[in-house]
Amino acid sequence: MQRKVLTAAIVVMTAGIWVAAWHAAAFTVSIVAELDRAATLTAIAPRAQTTIVFDRAGRPAFSFFVEQRSDVPLARVSRHMVDAVLAVEDRRFYSHHGIDPIRVLGAAYRNVRAGRIVQGGSTITQQLARAAQLTPERTYHRKIREILIAGRLEERYSKSQILEEYLNTVYFGEGYYGVEAAARGYFGKPAADLAVPEAALLAALVRSPSNDAPCTAPKRATARRNLVLRLMRQQGKITDGDLQAALAAPIPDASHQTAAGRYASNETGMYFQEEVRRQLVSMFGADRVLRGGLRVYSTYDPALQHEAERAVTSRIAQIVKMRPRARDLQGSLVSMDPETGDVLALVGGRDFEASSFNRATQARRQAGSAFKPIIYAAALERGYAPGTLLRDLDAPISAVGPSGVWLPSGEHERSEYTVRRALKVSSNRAAAQLLQQVGVSTAVHYAQRLGIDSELPQVPSLALGTGEVTLLELTAAYSAFATSGMVARPRLITRVEDPEGRTIWFAPEQRTQAISATTAYLMSSMLSDVVSSGTAANARVAGFSLPAAGKTGTTDEYADAWFIGYTPHLLTGVWFGLDRPAPIMRGGFGGVVAVPAWAQFMRQATKGAKADWYAAPADVERVAICRLTGVRATEACRHQDAAAAASVPTLVDAVYPAAQPETPTEPAEPPVYEDLFQVGSIPPDTCPIHGVAASPVASAEPSSATPLVDAAIRPASVISPGAAIRTGTRLFVEKVTGDDGLIRYVVKQR
Ligand SMILES: [Zn+2]
Repeated sequence: MQRKVLTAAIVVMTAGIWVAAWHAAAFTVSIVAELDRAATLTAIAPRAQTTIVFDRAGRPAFSFFVEQRSDVPLARVSRHMVDAVLAVEDRRFYSHHGIDPIRVLGAAYRNVRAGRIVQGGSTITQQLARAAQLTPERTYHRKIREILIAGRLEERYSKSQILEEYLNTVYFGEGYYGVEAAARGYFGKPAADLAVPEAALLAALVRSPSNDAPCTAPKRATARRNLVLRLMRQQGKITDGDLQAALAAPIPDASHQTAAGRYASNETGMYFQEEVRRQLVSMFGADRVLRGGLRVYSTYDPALQHEAERAVTSRIAQIVKMRPRARDLQGSLVSMDPETGDVLALVGGRDFEASSFNRATQARRQAGSAFKPIIYAAALERGYAPGTLLRDLDAPISAVGPSGVWLPSGEHERSEYTVRRALKVSSNRAAAQLLQQVGVSTAVHYAQRLGIDSELPQVPSLALGTGEVTLLELTAAYSAFATSGMVARPRLITRVEDPEGRTIWFAPEQRTQAISATTAYLMSSMLSDVVSSGTAANARVAGFSLPAAGKTGTTDEYADAWFIGYTPHLLTGVWFGLDRPAPIMRGGFGGVVAVPAWAQFMRQATKGAKADWYAAPADVERVAICRLTGVRATEACRHQDAAAAASVPTLVDAVYPAAQPETPTEPAEPPVYEDLFQVGSIPPDTCPIHGVAASPVASAEPSSATPLVDAAIRPASVISPGAAIRTGTRLFVEKVTGDDGLIRYVVKQR
């Protein structure tokens, strides 16, 4: 039995060895043929190919490529440069034949001891051979090709020819290929003039130019440069005095020019382009993006980008004209398709040439009230409805901070608001109470479900938007309100192909159900009030007329002005502020500073679009509520005792004043209101005070697919069991359970 197994094993192994040998032979033949076709060194190391980025219509929009290389003969490269590169990359360069067995074994030993790859075993000849292969796979095939080509190079060319080609090809980071471009880029001098510490820094960059770049990782860059200097000393290339002087020399700071920052393109879309480049580099490495000839399919919409940039820069110009002290004002804008998450336009600042820092994707700022919809959505998920009345808003929140209590202040705070009205006027106390009721950790959980990746503080002031978020993530969170509760991950790149047209990367739409479709509908209903007559009414003043919803945000001292708003088909967020947070201007509310820019962009972006809005889900009902008792109204509730209403000041809905958007007029409070409720949250009782035997009032009109206009909806209230209910008058109602177990409502006078 054992013998049979052994025989079978030997047969299988022999067959395996023959197959492997045949493969190896065929492979070697193909490499040699390939090598023989390459007549010269420069053909071995192919010239860079341009990476092209296409817009959403498939037209070329941007390109990434290496600047024309400036090759120099070895005689015009500083001796220190040659010494430094050989010291760290290939000290036995002049004695080996393409492969350095001592180096390979030494590297393997060190890697095993370190448990990771700390040193590569490749000679300069091998590295040059590797540059000939742009395929990304790190396979043994690739390694064998590399060794075979290296051997051929050594046979065919002199050591100085190989070294010269290497120095003119190698990547030094920041878009610099070749020693001449790197010397001029980092130090502003030709490669012939490189001093010892400069040469050592460039040699240090060869191993990992992106990770060790002096402007992004100065400590790592310095440490690695000093290692090169010590190796040069060990190998007798420099004196002790040279070493000490070089160790003390500074490395270049971030002010030097990066070749990667210069593109051939028109002026539009620089921030979009830079964000695409950053994402590509993190996926494929700078080398492949700048030389690999990738075909990149993006979500870029050039026409919308143009409008977006105009909206931001013209709004900044208007504000600076009014408030010259705000001359450094910055702005950003993100516009996306809420269904797919496709980012159509991205503005990261007023001027890319002046500052490439992207304020839409990189800046984390407090969101102010623009964060409140996330708290409200969590509350609706937990059984609150737009018509729910929030009471005792003037009561401090307990157990907060060292003082033990907290009562947020705001532009206008009353002791009670319906949920709808509180969101419309952006009441801080209502948001704080809702957050307390829902729980901070639950609210943070919902924020994460809605795609907020930034870390949020688990504190009561989160209700006022003290968490710091990016414009992109906050805007994307609103996509759930815009599309039946499905939150979309923003994307700029949909697909990447290699030069042969093979898809090497693909980004599917990423959508997850973050909140229920009913919550999303109710949020849109409430947020449409903000645009039609709330803090964002300036959108209507600016002439944007399509049905839309959104929320403004303003932070302490008017340091940030936000507006995130949407139609069912286009979602756009805008932010304005100074890079170092400071007041934009007195009264610089989101509704004043940000909304006009949003409206200008949206007007252009939706030109010719038809008015569209959401159909109400089946489980949403409009219910008439008696304000006094907070339960379903009877016909009699509409004709309440005049005395009860007399003390309530009667105001008329006025045209919203454009200059003071955060202080809208308070409408009258009729005794009966209608608002939307999810079926499960409708108060079950009818009003016990007015007309006991009367039947409930039928809702005036069924839910419809048209946007809810504020004038048609009045705040409603629900009774909280056992709680005392105060009204705006001196009357109040108490729900009491008698000894007989029956519930009674008692009207009392204060
Ligand atoms: Zn009533």
